[in-house]
Amino acid sequence: MKLLEERIKQDGIAVNEHILKVDSFINHQIDPGLMQEMGNDIADHFKGRGITKIATIESSGIAPALMVSIAMGVPLIILKKQPSKILNQDLYQTVVTSFTKETNYELTLSKKYISANDHVLIVDDFLANGEAATATLRLLRMSHATIAGFAVLIEKSFQPGHEKLTSQGIEVYALAQIMKLSENYIEFA
Ligand code: 5GP
Repeated sequence: MKLLEERIKQDGIAVNEHILKVDSFINHQIDPGLMQEMGNDIADHFKGRGITKIATIESSGIAPALMVSIAMGVPLIILKKQPSKILNQDLYQTVVTSFTKETNYELTLSKKYISANDHVLIVDDFLANGEAATATLRLLRMSHATIAGFAVLIEKSFQPGHEKLTSQGIEVYALAQIMKLSENYIEFA
């Protein structure tokens, strides 16, 4: 998506070879017009596929996922992060390794909000190592829901997330693909 690439060139900060900061328009302050356009683009790409729900992980996935859910007219479910393992039979739970915070956390989803009849599109801000996406898939599969695909604003294509998902037969739709990062340098696909 040209609009997003241009904005990343203008306001994105390549911190090092691994991390891109987009705090001024996606992660900390949000540009609502851009976020809406990105949501519409994703909704357009996946329209007519029988999607019943959008799923994301709190917190940075919520803004793009909400835009997609509004555009598609289906509910958004937010997978919650919890620090410790509290066994609860009303929840699906799985452990995730966080890329940015380098810690593990428990991801949970109430059984009330998902069923085998759901066809789910997962939406997130970044795809890096694919740990968050893989855990989301694991959790959704516990409910026997089917997966329509994974949509992401920014894919760092030099990290293994894309391959991890496509090798499981999951379609990955990325609005911007970054091939290389280094301090103050960003290369797009
Ligand atoms: P993954 O599980 O694919 O390694 O990372 C997923 C999560 O880590 C994303 O949802 C995002 O919140 C965060 N993340 C990964 N890489 C970056 C990055 O370069 N910049 C920012 N701002 N967040 C990132």
